[in-house]
Amino acid sequence: MSGGCGCDSPGMMAYEQALDQLLDAATSAEESGQPVIQVTLAQALGRILAEDQHSAVDVPPNDNSAMDGYALHIDSLGSDAVSQLVISQRVPAGADPEPLKPGTAARIFTGAKIPEGANVVVKQEDCETTTSEGNPLTINGESAVQLPSIQEKGQNIRLLGQDIRQGEVIMPAGTRLQPQHLGVLASVGIGELSVYRPLKVAILSTGDELIEPGLTLAPGQIYNSNRYTLTGMINGLGMEMVDLGIVADTPEATDEALSRAAKEADVVISSGGVSVGEEDHVKASVEKLGSLNLWRIAIKPGKPFAYGEVQGKPFLGLPGNPAAVLVSFNILARPFLLKMQGATELMPISYRAPVMLTRKAQGRKEFMRARLTSKDGKPCIEPFSNQSSGVLSSAVWANGYAIIPANTAVTEGDEVDFVPFSEVMN
Ligand code: AMP
Ligand code: MG
Repeated sequence: MSGGCGCDSPGMMAYEQALDQLLDAATSAEESGQPVIQVTLAQALGRILAEDQHSAVDVPPNDNSAMDGYALHIDSLGSDAVSQLVISQRVPAGADPEPLKPGTAARIFTGAKIPEGANVVVKQEDCETTTSEGNPLTINGESAVQLPSIQEKGQNIRLLGQDIRQGEVIMPAGTRLQPQHLGVLASVGIGELSVYRPLKVAILSTGDELIEPGLTLAPGQIYNSNRYTLTGMINGLGMEMVDLGIVADTPEATDEALSRAAKEADVVISSGGVSVGEEDHVKASVEKLGSLNLWRIAIKPGKPFAYGEVQGKPFLGLPGNPAAVLVSFNILARPFLLKMQGATELMPISYRAPVMLTRKAQGRKEFMRARLTSKDGKPCIEPFSNQSSGVLSSAVWANGYAIIPANTAVTEGDEVDFVPFSEVMN
């Protein structure tokens, strides 16, 4: 299948169009009826919420002190610069205090519940409880405290519900749970929750030249790196990997691996073998077992990309070159998988910064492996010197992608989009 690109690369499809088509084709977890499982909060990191989460409580559950100090009612303060009050109770965190005796102060600590009748906390650094001779301050033999009379009502008090109100939706379905989400869920007392079962993602590494790391290279062989890049990506997304290992460049081996993958997984991803050479069997095999669209996408690296279906399961055919695998997974496969998994946030955040690059317009949108650094205290993007799709070490040097739009000349200092790897590597 080909598509108008609206660019100067005839027969190629623009990235945005490919992404739209791919995301349209992805069935969301809700549509596909992806099973929902119950997990404890401790098991929930990286999972996608299957239901909106409501709070059954107010957070904090009562007014409490933001400081170690003295709680009192502002009307107890006199007209002199300094007031002196009897200390009528002691309220540590976790205690349930008595109502405040009018005209007195309560010794209070951070996080402790404010006694009924108090409306200000004076921090202990502003208070005196001893005289200049070192004797305890007292009023009629009772312990007392001296403090400045000018205070602001409500000062140093954290109000009930200031964080979360009872009944509020704290997180919608589709949220991908990060550490801060777990903290908030814990803060409202949720110990167990419904999330989507992790997707099972099958990976095939095609190529007769591949051997596994740890073995000795024979002439003509290379190590299988895509398998490990993709394993890291799938694990980082919290999905389950179904690893079919290295698949030989024969129609039989390709057919067999693809049908096994389709049987065991929710989605099938291959690397390599989608070009149109006679050693590329993925295309024919997918067409035999399902259906395939072979796209030439106007991106660099990663131009050949296949999308289709094998025995009813979605199929994504990534290129073979290691840097192209990284890029096409990040910008195409990742949002596709996240949608299938039930997430609502699919795309990474990007930032704009000046790039250290001057060049003529090119027909394809380029995802350059680049480093965001600073120059004279200002952010600046430095592309790696070798952007070949075979040079994966570019991505170890880099910390993100500089995105150069198609058909756009660039002069050093122009601002371009930058996507940090931290946005797409998990
Ligand atoms: P292909 O699309 O199968 O022609 O592969 C394109 C290039 O990527 C070739 O140079 C392959 O050797 C290389 N390649 C394919 N698969 C892998 C892999 N799993 N690990 C490392 N390089 C690969
Ligand atoms: Mg190959």
